[in-house]
Amino acid sequence: RTAQEALSRLTVDVADWPQEGVTFKDITPVLADHHAFSAIITALAAAGRDDHGNVVVDKVVGMEARGFILAAPVALALGIGFVPVRKHGKLPRATHAVSYALEYGEATLEVHRDAIEPGERVLMVDDVLATGGTVVATRQLIEACGGVAVGASVLMELGFLDPRSVTGDLPIATLLTI
Ligand code: IMP
Repeated sequence: RTAQEALSRLTVDVADWPQEGVTFKDITPVLADHHAFSAIITALAAAGRDDHGNVVVDKVVGMEARGFILAAPVALALGIGFVPVRKHGKLPRATHAVSYALEYGEATLEVHRDAIEPGERVLMVDDVLATGGTVVATRQLIEACGGVAVGASVLMELGFLDPRSVTGDLPIATLLTI
């Protein structure tokens, strides 16, 4: 509840950024407030626990770039490892890669092949769920490693873009739906 309140109070809507017609959700003021930051990390991490508070995932994956800021402290809060999913050409060793369509053009995401062990249960963490394309591509990367994508935990879901029609049966926990 405090996490949701802080998130809606501190997130800034930026009109026509990065392009006309898009209203960008700027979460940097949430990160700059220690109490708000702490509350949203605790709330995001709840998706990695069962009803008794036991940690039920083995790794946390964060998507470049804002996902990194959230996923790393979630991993520490759960007491498990963090894995970065990066844009094409950033990771130095052997990777799996997945390309997917953006509103304009295409993007490629990559993960180190040995970052996730076969059978490991993986939670994805990101700031905004928009079209759902990033979560679907990341799920494919986890599965390419032999891991199990158990769900995603995001701050905000842009419901008007209907991301769930793309993410399908994947469980996604959201603090705020817009
Ligand atoms: P999707 O692939 O369309 O779901 O877009 C999700 C990705 O785009 C996430 O990694 C977000 O960080 C980023 N994103 C999309 N819209 C916004 C926004 O309004 N604010 C911040 N990030 C956004």
